[in-house]
Amino acid sequence: MTTSAQTPHAVTDARAVTDARAVPEAALASAPASEPAPASVATSVPGPIPAVVRARVPVTLSRVQGRSADLVTFHHLPDPGEHFAVLVPASPTDTAPPLVRLHSECLTGDVLGSARCDCGPQLDEALRAIADHGGAVLYLRQEGRGIGLYNKLDTYVLQSQDHDTFAANRMIGRGDDERDYASAAAMLHALGLTRIRLLTNNPDKVRELRTYGIEITEVVPTGVYVTAENSRYLSAKAELAGHTIALLQEAAA
Ligand SMILES: [Zn+2]
Repeated sequence: MTTSAQTPHAVTDARAVTDARAVPEAALASAPASEPAPASVATSVPGPIPAVVRARVPVTLSRVQGRSADLVTFHHLPDPGEHFAVLVPASPTDTAPPLVRLHSECLTGDVLGSARCDCGPQLDEALRAIADHGGAVLYLRQEGRGIGLYNKLDTYVLQSQDHDTFAANRMIGRGDDERDYASAAAMLHALGLTRIRLLTNNPDKVRELRTYGIEITEVVPTGVYVTAENSRYLSAKAELAGHTIALLQEAAA
């Protein structure tokens, strides 16, 4: 028996060391081969083996005026999703903890700009924020609050029949919100970003990251992007899932 099929590819980071201002050595290390977890690993780190950086690749982001960022992938995330981080080192003069956004994949909103939700504008806002201040957007492959694209579109049909977004999920036999943030926490540990400011209106993200040993020094609210098509969706998130969407009534008016 051999476990060689599970041995990850070691990818050497090609970036200059000078780009690693906000990200400690952990994020620059090339990925080691699979190893058992050392005995000293804190129980707050998710997964049986601590996640490590697999590859780090610079890109130019046309959606934020051509600013540059690194795309980072990982070995040993607790679930099989191909989650990745968009990482921007902080300026040496910026002493605040890095800003982090956990963004769950929304193909319709992020790629197509669908007005049925506010994911596209929230992603743009987060990318602008980390480009300006340094930090990371963790792009989590949990489409449709974890139920997948096809199921999400099924719930859109039900929503058009006057069911709210959570009721529609239950009608197809799925949970209100099936996401979890164990992989997000593992990514933050791998990047050395364990003391952060979190860009979110979602109390679940704050609560769960803290259980995994991530110190959140500040919760920075995201903007509210109301359209005629998404106002009921945003209302449901505020009323039924406790999201802090303070400007909803004004903005929807
Ligand atoms: Zn969306």
